[in-house]
Amino acid sequence: MAGRIVHGVALTWVDNAGITRVKTVPFARLADAARWGVGMSPVFDVFGVDDSITTSRHIGGPVGDLRLRPDLDRLTVLAGQPGWAWAPVDRWTQEGEPYVACQRRFARAMTERAASAGLSLRMAFEIEWYVGQAPDDDPRPACVGPAYGMTRIVELSAYLDDLLTTLEAQGVAVEQLHPEYAAGQLELSIAAADPVTAADDNVLVRQTIRAVAARHGLRVSFAPVVVAGQVGNGAHLHFSVRDANGALFAGGSGPYGLTERGESVLAATLERLPALCAIGAPGVASYLRLVPQRWAGAFQCWGHENREAALRFVTGVAGQGDRAANAEIKCCDGAANPYLVAGAVAALVADAADLGRRLPAEVAVDPAALPDAEQPPRLPTSLPEAIAALEADEGLRRALGDPLFEAFLAVRRAEVELFAGKSPEEIAAATRWRY
Ligand code: GLU
Ligand code: MG
Repeated sequence: MAGRIVHGVALTWVDNAGITRVKTVPFARLADAARWGVGMSPVFDVFGVDDSITTSRHIGGPVGDLRLRPDLDRLTVLAGQPGWAWAPVDRWTQEGEPYVACQRRFARAMTERAASAGLSLRMAFEIEWYVGQAPDDDPRPACVGPAYGMTRIVELSAYLDDLLTTLEAQGVAVEQLHPEYAAGQLELSIAAADPVTAADDNVLVRQTIRAVAARHGLRVSFAPVVVAGQVGNGAHLHFSVRDANGALFAGGSGPYGLTERGESVLAATLERLPALCAIGAPGVASYLRLVPQRWAGAFQCWGHENREAALRFVTGVAGQGDRAANAEIKCCDGAANPYLVAGAVAALVADAADLGRRLPAEVAVDPAALPDAEQPPRLPTSLPEAIAALEADEGLRRALGDPLFEAFLAVRRAEVELFAGKSPEEIAAATRWRY
């Protein structure tokens, strides 16, 4: 990488509120930063979506320092921000120990835990976002064409061309780009990768989408809801698992070719979705999005290609063999920390593969259209419900470790307090431009 074209390097991590925080160093300081790290207070682990600061048993307060150490394997020249490069960081203590509450380290540790059970995971986030006119605070979509309509691609042609070119220059393998349902909404999907890479890609792609938009006079939002009462932005996680015998989600004798281990993984994931909601749909605003009949996955059920099921099973096209089969967790949104989502799912998979769990009956219709008595359970309908489910999930507490688990929950509780008594419109307005 030529020092003359890169002047600054953005070193990012994602906090427990789902906000990407940053320190930057001049390019000439990068080698030093990689060796010794860059200082940053641990207090950011208890920062809220509004930058207010709470506290927790192990983490909080103004005292202490951590070292941010960039992962040079992910160093990327930001084609959409001339003069800049980016690298995600791991956080270390000043004594040179891995920091217990580092979310990226958690994702890596859980991937390793799965690997030691002989399981290798592939993941990909689908990124939905809203594009509006800058600098308006009130949302005014940058395109007016219909949902999934070619008109939007024409209206935003220059922006989207620039976006694809920029992502390609940054080595991001884009699979698809399309207009979504809500006004001004688009979606981009990225090729599957190992869990840490998938989370890094989520961060890189989002900041690229934002940076390119800014160059076109546009403003973007990845918030769970941009306008209360309308379809929101998901950040669905697709995942698949292999062991020494091949894919777990194909070639077996279970439903849709699931192997025994694959079915056990999906059954346990389904069961623990309420707890996972606190991580994947962690905001008060998340529950304005997670409602039936918006394809957000509001019901705790699974179904083959069922876009209303929180766990959608995808087999792919006949002939694609075992490469295409994957499961999509839909109850995840843009307020989530992708490292925590990736790590939590890896932990669930590692725990579940050999439990011999069986899936309940598939839901093959819109669950909301069923008579009340036949409807599958709703996932949490509010953040406090999701918090209660996570508090009760001993497996996730152990996986995250007390310091991270408690700091994460403290941030969630502070957010509940912050928005107590606020209307959906006020919550949407307060979070719309934060993610
Ligand atoms: N926008 C929907 C959500 O909130 C998802 C639409 C889809 O891609 O299925 O999750
Ligand atoms: Mg979508």
